[in-house]
Amino acid sequence: MKLPEDLKLRSNNSCELCAATGTLAVYEVPFSPEARRDNELVACEKCRAQLERKEALDAAHWQCLTTSMWSEVPAVQVVSWRMLNRLRNESWAAEQLDMMYLDDELLAWAKASGDHENDDVVELPWTAMAPPSRTATPLCSQSHWM
Ligand SMILES: [Zn+2]
Repeated sequence: MKLPEDLKLRSNNSCELCAATGTLAVYEVPFSPEARRDNELVACEKCRAQLERKEALDAAHWQCLTTSMWSEVPAVQVVSWRMLNRLRNESWAAEQLDMMYLDDELLAWAKASGDHENDDVVELPWTAMAPPSRTATPLCSQSHWM
């Protein structure tokens, strides 16, 4: 996928989270307020796979958050905050979270994903398609399922 010019310039053609220059693509920040136009960032394949819960979290990889959390780009701040929350069992991540400051608007955006309350679970492909609900009923418990 080709990056839009504005994102390419802003990201300096590298992952806005870990600065890798590999396979880059636009990552649209989930649970973004509709009014926001700046809800995208440039992320590499590895970051995207873990952001989208297709791969287990690699805590060593996400040390990059200690840099990206200070980005001036709101979408990068929001995603960094969410990822630090998913990693909050790591003492370094908890420390960074303590230091991180988001204004009320960005904090509300960041919290919309629920990552700060959920345990981190890598979902199976079929559950990843379901709406993000903690009360979702597994398909197999439906009584008419034959
Ligand atoms: Zn990356």
